[in-house]
Amino acid sequence: MSELKFSLTGIYGGTFDPIHYGHLRIAEELTDIIGFQTIHFIPSGSPRLRCDPFASRYHRLMMTHLAIQNNSKFILDAREINREGKSSSVESLREYKYESGDDKTALCFIIGIDAFMKLPLWYCWRELFTLCHFIIVHRPGRISMMNQDTLPQDLKKECASRWVTNSNDLKRQSSGLVFVASTSLLDISATAIRSFFSAEKSTRYLLPDAVLDYINIHHLYSGEE
Ligand code: ATP
Repeated sequence: MSELKFSLTGIYGGTFDPIHYGHLRIAEELTDIIGFQTIHFIPSGSPRLRCDPFASRYHRLMMTHLAIQNNSKFILDAREINREGKSSSVESLREYKYESGDDKTALCFIIGIDAFMKLPLWYCWRELFTLCHFIIVHRPGRISMMNQDTLPQDLKKECASRWVTNSNDLKRQSSGLVFVASTSLLDISATAIRSFFSAEKSTRYLLPDAVLDYINIHHLYSGEE
């Protein structure tokens, strides 16, 4: 057995349109489950695989800042917001590897099962396994993760030898492993929040008050921006 020589850093990419308690609670639980010292939140610029976000890059960056500012383990990373063109996680992870400049940190990409299922559509997706581990979290109403047969063929094949069930195993190598975390099932999505806003329904307790106030001040999802 190889020794536990890597410390683990969380990378949490998303549109965050808006960021909500689904994202935040999952990240908080993972600091305990995985033992992250830090989780880097990376709002995407223009996603490759979906239509442009509703809120601008700047507003999504600001909402993410407001949501995580009081948690010293959560760090805001604006690199994809500041990068021109389409966002790509592979580019950000390459940069992280280069910047960290050590061989003691393993990056762990946090991803919901819905997003993981679409991984083969991501730019240079196989390279991601050379740059990070994946931490998969469940979402209620989405595909049951424990049934690996539901993964697309390419992904199932790529992951076949990568599954680990003990998070400590992630500390044995710098990348390439896949771990399914037992986190709370929170049925919160940005899509539902945006539709509540446009229907003028309450969104309280689905996202932090500071983010809610920001959205209201800037009329982000009511079509009046
Ligand atoms: P939308 O509804 O617009 O698709 P979203 O709520 O899925 O947005 P994203 O910013 O697209 O939010 O998600 C970023 C990452 O967080 C993705 O990997 C997604 O699967 C995960 N995620 C989002 N909401 C939850 C949740 N409630 N529980 C677990 N993971 C989540």
